[in-house]
Amino acid sequence: MIGAGAMSGGRNGETPLSNGTVVDYDLIIVGGGLAGSSLAIALAGRSIRILIVEQQEEFRDRIRGELLMPWGSLEAKRLGIYDLLLESCAIEASYFSSFTKGSSPVTRDLLATTPAATCCATFPHPEMQTVLLRQAKLLGAEVRLGNGASAVTFGDVPRVHIGGDVKGLSARLVVLADGRDSRLRSLLGFDVLHDPEQLVTAGMLLEGDVNYSEFLAGEARPSANTVNLFYDPKGGRMVIAMRIAPRRNRIYLIYHKDVLPKRLSGRHSVDEMIRQLQAVGAPSHWFDQARQAGPLASFDGSHRWIDSPFRDGVVLVGDTAAATDPAWGRGLSRTLRDVRLLRDRLLESSDWRSAAEAYARDHDDFYGRMRRLEAMQTTLLFERGEAADKRREHAFALFARDPTRVPDVMGLGPEAPSDDQARARYFGQI
Ligand SMILES: Cc1cc2nc3c(=O)[nH]c(=O)nc-3n(C[C@H](O)[C@H](O)[C@H](O)COP(=O)(O)OP(=O)(O)OC[C@H]3O[C@@H](n4cnc5c(N)ncnc54)[C@H](O)[C@@H]3O)c2cc1C
Repeated sequence: MIGAGAMSGGRNGETPLSNGTVVDYDLIIVGGGLAGSSLAIALAGRSIRILIVEQQEEFRDRIRGELLMPWGSLEAKRLGIYDLLLESCAIEASYFSSFTKGSSPVTRDLLATTPAATCCATFPHPEMQTVLLRQAKLLGAEVRLGNGASAVTFGDVPRVHIGGDVKGLSARLVVLADGRDSRLRSLLGFDVLHDPEQLVTAGMLLEGDVNYSEFLAGEARPSANTVNLFYDPKGGRMVIAMRIAPRRNRIYLIYHKDVLPKRLSGRHSVDEMIRQLQAVGAPSHWFDQARQAGPLASFDGSHRWIDSPFRDGVVLVGDTAAATDPAWGRGLSRTLRDVRLLRDRLLESSDWRSAAEAYARDHDDFYGRMRRLEAMQTTLLFERGEAADKRREHAFALFARDPTRVPDVMGLGPEAPSDDQARARYFGQI
């Protein structure tokens, strides 16, 4: 705890480093998404001078994460933002219902079956961003909206340039949290690695007197919400649907890139999107009673990441460090894990360079496990062809007898087993 705050609050609000250099801020965070704002909140109250630079003035629907998995809810609690989200814009979904064509539906009671007794939370992404940025500001961070960072420079004293500003602002550490398409990351020369494209996620927002978190099978649980997942083993398609606010629902179609001849995107694809959603299992009354309330867009889900997301005064978090496949709904949880790991390392030591290096190792370790887990799931559930169909049939029959063969990523996150033995059990090879 010592180091983080000890050097703050110098003359004129500037921060002197141990070698006498004066910097404008302890931390400059580029990007006011979940990563940037929750990091500022998590470090608040320790006399750490923080600036968040966010290019947007207000937030609109970009089709981004709105379903936090139970292991991510635990991270949100550890960071002190879970209750804030519930009080302001989030809804808890304490069940998860899966409908697989040809099998009986399964509803999981998340509070009763997850290791930390946590559940899913859903929220409109733009509202979540607004709430967290407001909270960061309330807790003392300076937040500059409406003008993006145009450049970042490495160094003992890294700098951030906003708009056309030539001189730039200095910091002990710069955090890049500018998202999956980070331009600054490329300008700085970080090598972005990526997997080949496999799955596509198409998302749409619908408004009306209909609830996509309703229970469609089994006992009615009037006061609770569920997340509904429909899976078509023959078609390489999956649908995930949930209510994110009163009268507002998000629905995703996930499909193997070879399933549809073209990406579902824009107004002209809405009818086809709804046809596909219904073909996989979404009930028709969901569409009779709702109207489209946001754009329809599709995203390539292939992982893209940086090995060792720290260099010379600049550290990467959230999607800037690694973007997982939206198909599996884990980006928000992974982002919060990054933030917690970085917060803990920064609070452990006054040497923020070593702390950021240690964070980068922590990140690589858990992200590597996450990537292995998602690759296993993508291969088993979405690969196409006769051999893949046979493998699926065999594995599903084994899952029905022994559900522990499926790693509990929802509850355990990256701690779910992903080693060779876990993989062989999942694929029904042992
Ligand atoms: C289609 C889709 C569906 C998804 N669904 C889910 C889901 O259901 N569950 C889940 O867990 N995850 C999901 N995700 C992933 C999730 O949205 C991300 O992991 C999460 O939003 C990452 O947060 P972030 O703060 O790192 O980045 P972002 O949310 O992208 O925030 C980055 C911020 O940086 C700002 N910015 C960019 N450039 C600059 C600049 N130069 N200067 C200043 N500011 C800048 C942007 O305006 C933005 O506000 C989904 C992703 C996609 C694409």
